[in-house]
Amino acid sequence: MTERMAGVRLAPYTTLGLGGPAGAFVEAGSAEEIVELVAAADRAGEPVLVLGGGSNLVVADDGFDGLVVRVASRGVEVDGGRVTAQAGEDWDALVERAVAEGWSGVECLSGIPGLVGSTPIQNVGAYGQDVSQTITGVRVYDRRAGEVRDLDARECGFAYRHSAFKADPGRHVVLAVTYELAAGGLSGPIAYRELATRLGVGLGERVPLARARAAVLELRRGKGMVLDAADPDTRSAGSFFTNPVLTADEAAELERRSPGFPRWDMPDGTVKVPAAWLIENAGFPKGYRRGPARISTKHTLAMTNPDLSATTADLLDLAREVRDGVLEKFGVTLVNEPVMVGTRL
Ligand SMILES: Cc1cc2nc3c(=O)[nH]c(=O)nc-3n(C[C@H](O)[C@H](O)[C@H](O)COP(=O)(O)OP(=O)(O)OC[C@H]3O[C@@H](n4cnc5c(N)ncnc54)[C@H](O)[C@@H]3O)c2cc1C
Repeated sequence: MTERMAGVRLAPYTTLGLGGPAGAFVEAGSAEEIVELVAAADRAGEPVLVLGGGSNLVVADDGFDGLVVRVASRGVEVDGGRVTAQAGEDWDALVERAVAEGWSGVECLSGIPGLVGSTPIQNVGAYGQDVSQTITGVRVYDRRAGEVRDLDARECGFAYRHSAFKADPGRHVVLAVTYELAAGGLSGPIAYRELATRLGVGLGERVPLARARAAVLELRRGKGMVLDAADPDTRSAGSFFTNPVLTADEAAELERRSPGFPRWDMPDGTVKVPAAWLIENAGFPKGYRRGPARISTKHTLAMTNPDLSATTADLLDLAREVRDGVLEKFGVTLVNEPVMVGTRL
């Protein structure tokens, strides 16, 4: 276990490059260390922030007055198609390995930053896949019960960019995640039109895993959604807003205001609307700037800190302007996807 350090600035540990100091900061190299550190902090009444890759976090300029536990536990165990990875494993390295080994189920999640332990939190997803399709178990430290528990997929309560972990923030510390992957070298059925088009196949067709990964990475790079120190558009937390899911009544109201708006009709009668379309059509084009914070020049959903000169307050001012503009124009309230630490939108 590394030493507790005081006053460590969190900005370099986040992909936005934002965030003030931590009261105390420590790196935990194993599941046992994570449990020990979090349990001790809980006993002492010290607030805890579990930090993965910092790619879905907006940390206040004042920082976090408590203990930051940076997850650095490593190890991957393979048992048939069942792959169990420790929380501190790099997510994309695991996807790359799965593709190389011919295991299918996570190939469309290529290029997503962050660590394995964070993937169940918001049910990480992209291009027609999300981790709820492959996760069969999550080992957690339940801070309320003070014990390590193994949760099955049902107990994880997965939904679109949501889970039981997100619904009850801070209660569970993810220690390891088990994914059930299929052998055979082919991707799952391609379920996302833009990806199918790029691959030159029909929806529902399968392609070799390496082709799927390459196409996803190419699409993501074009949108500034693969971390790249040379690309200022990637100094973001990914999509800043989730795609709103409207009730039938809300969708009818939006249709009245904006006939023919783009929509995905969901099986339960709700309607998902692309947040990027709402933002762009509310008058916020790609590259829109407010002070040092900017909407990505490649994708309206990403709020960025392009030359690392913004503060968290600057970024949130931009995000609020966008949220309020969309509400005024369309009557739809955008909700932030990244987790706010010590601040709110
Ligand atoms: C360029 C870019 C592209 C992105 N693209 C996508 C995308 O396509 N799809 C998508 O779903 N997301 C995307 N994201 C968001 C982000 O990468 C994911 O949410 C990722 O899973 C976050 O992982 P992390 O390790 O960086 O988590 P962090 O940002 O460190 O933490 C996020 C939250 O999870 C909690 N947490 C972290 N680790 C644990 C743990 N072990 N136990 C309990 N809680 C924990 C933290 O406390 C925090 O609340 C993108 C982000 C960026 C910057």
